[in-house]
Amino acid sequence: MNKNYMTYPMKNMRITCRYDEASHRKHCIDVTDGLIDYPIDDGGKDTGRDPIYCPCDEMKVTAIRGVGNSSVTNTIWLVSTSAVITPTFTDIAFMTLTHPNDSDFTNIKVGDIFKRGEIICYEGTDGATSNHIHLTCGRGSSSTWKQNSNGAWIMDGNSYKPEDVFYIDRNFTTELWGGYLIWKYLPETSYVGNPVSRNTNVNQIEVLVDNLNARSEASTDSMSYGYLKKGFYDVVAEQDNNGYHWVKVESYWIATNDGWTKMYPKTTTNCEEKLKELEESYPKLIFTCDKTGKYLIYLQKGSQLYLQ
Ligand SMILES: [Zn+2]
Repeated sequence: MNKNYMTYPMKNMRITCRYDEASHRKHCIDVTDGLIDYPIDDGGKDTGRDPIYCPCDEMKVTAIRGVGNSSVTNTIWLVSTSAVITPTFTDIAFMTLTHPNDSDFTNIKVGDIFKRGEIICYEGTDGATSNHIHLTCGRGSSSTWKQNSNGAWIMDGNSYKPEDVFYIDRNFTTELWGGYLIWKYLPETSYVGNPVSRNTNVNQIEVLVDNLNARSEASTDSMSYGYLKKGFYDVVAEQDNNGYHWVKVESYWIATNDGWTKMYPKTTTNCEEKLKELEESYPKLIFTCDKTGKYLIYLQKGSQLYLQ
């Protein structure tokens, strides 16, 4: 990875609580003092304690709290040492991880550096009844928490929603359950689709740009599988929604626009259609012999000849 993208820090995403659900609601809903964060709980593969990996080129530990203190839940704060590229900003970013066990922090101290892909800690049960990680993130730095007007301890800083901070690197993370959040895929590994040859017998569309989302539904709110490769595709279905004319190619829906796609309606008909057309217009003749004799017919490979 050449650019410093911020990518999701676990190999198996299984979100068990979104930021707007259950106990997390008091972190970001109906807060009167403006102190909010957007935590998600991830249970990983659910077969034990999955690791959490460093999500960018380098992060530095800015705080560790709660270790050895049963009344304070274990939490580690990490801040990137240089600007990271996220789906919504390019800047310094922070990440906090809550619930690892005390043993995870035996050899970690404030100031320690982690490189991309190195294990920071594991899901745990400190302050929790089952193994999971409570994750928050945001822009800029953070090294402490504050209690908001709902009584929730939130990470102090400019908190962002996780789907606005982390890309999914599909070569690294498997989305077991994304919690209906709209995650974006890492731009450099996100191309899908297999363009076909130009064929005037079927309706086709040409994708002209390299950043057209290939979505699961004909809606801008649906999940993107990545960008569709440039080239020609056969049109499978069409639909209007969200102010766009949507076209389905392979198993993906794309929004069309004169600037990024071009439609090619079919201009020729295949033999079955031609025969049907002839039968419907019978007794129209398409070829009349002016005398009885031998005729040489040159047929191209794959063509069909109908004689009466
Ligand atoms: Zn939580």
